[in-house]
Amino acid sequence: MSDKAKIYAEGLSRLVQIPTVTGVDRKSFAAFRKELAAQFPGVYSACEVIMPGGEESDAIMFKWKGRSSSRPLVLMAHQDVVPAEGKWKYPPFSGTVADGKVWGRGSMDCKNTLYCTIRSVEELIGEGFTPEQDVYLCYSDNEETSGHGATYCRDWLTAHGVKPAVAIDEGGAIVQEAFPGMTKPFAMVGIIEKGYCDVKFVARSKGGHSSSPPKNTPFARLARFVDYCERHTVFKPRMTPAALAMLKGLSSGLTGVLAFVTKHADFFKPVIVKVLPKLTPFGAALLGTTMTFTMAQGSGAPNVIPQEASMTANLRFAPGDDSKLCLEKLRTIAARFDIETHPMECREASPMVDVESADFKYFVDTVLRVFPDCGAAPYLIFGGTDCRTMQTITPCAIRCTPCKLDPQQLAAMHAADENIDVSSVVGGVNFFKTYLKGYK
Ligand SMILES: [Zn+2]
Repeated sequence: MSDKAKIYAEGLSRLVQIPTVTGVDRKSFAAFRKELAAQFPGVYSACEVIMPGGEESDAIMFKWKGRSSSRPLVLMAHQDVVPAEGKWKYPPFSGTVADGKVWGRGSMDCKNTLYCTIRSVEELIGEGFTPEQDVYLCYSDNEETSGHGATYCRDWLTAHGVKPAVAIDEGGAIVQEAFPGMTKPFAMVGIIEKGYCDVKFVARSKGGHSSSPPKNTPFARLARFVDYCERHTVFKPRMTPAALAMLKGLSSGLTGVLAFVTKHADFFKPVIVKVLPKLTPFGAALLGTTMTFTMAQGSGAPNVIPQEASMTANLRFAPGDDSKLCLEKLRTIAARFDIETHPMECREASPMVDVESADFKYFVDTVLRVFPDCGAAPYLIFGGTDCRTMQTITPCAIRCTPCKLDPQQLAAMHAADENIDVSSVVGGVNFFKTYLKGYK
């Protein structure tokens, strides 16, 4: 490991060691700030340090003054992490550095993003560099619980008349197998997020003792409904502009028939829409609104028929699918099974970044320059990020941290054995330094 790699490994490890578990206690966030101040003295002396939520929040921002304020740049990440459950190879908050990796909760979601961005600014300050434009580092404290940290940052910017030209947040990464049959790693550059809704389906009855059960108990109806949803295409898949941009972008990393079909994805639209969702769950998620049942509740005892039983589903709306219409459709189907539909938290898909814009192209060009062995493609994000908040004040909200991740590392997101290669952190810092130097 080079000296630089050792410093990065140690630095990220120390951030991972502070258990900033989302929504648990605020002490760890205070400790986290102390650690940032210790590791990044250049940032703390050259930048304005801002707590945009005051006493209310642990979100933190840094303003690095540039030569101009005409095209502000926002670099985002979140300080919080999800709880660490299950059996881990190394204790989740040990930040163990072993096998060329940093291990622990947050190492790739997304203290790596936070580290790479703030470290790149620290190094550039040390080199005497002044950015062409104002740069804001915005680190929320509750992304994992869809909290208000990012809102505080956005509102501070708005209140101070700052209209970011570009915002970059977590989202995509550089992955080995973005699509079956890929010949090289690809940076998946997030341009849009799917919408989101949790829906509770409730079936009622008069209850009673389980020793003389009537027909059509709440769980029987719920089971029929769930089975119906799984066996039918409730939400029609279709080719959205985002899916089209992604498939075309991936074509250069494919060979043979797959390369040809994805390159001409507009021509092959009908075939792709028909076949891809049947081939993989990924295809179904790429081309349509998805729904999966995640929770169930019945009576309080094994021998009591529930008066009220429920199952909760999680929906991810495809861009262009109106949440109200989707929910109306579900309500109609559920009613046929004598089931009520109660939507809970709900949001639409985000707007899409213009992939022909100069700002998007500059991001992609920088990725290809820093990682010449990789490709880059637009990416439709199935999950959610803080960037949807920032998106309301910027035309270009890019969701990607160009760090290389292997399939095990991707699968470890929100699971056990989360880790990142030290070399990926080195690549990430290189990327952001190059990006910042060339951003005008
Ligand atoms: Zn994250």
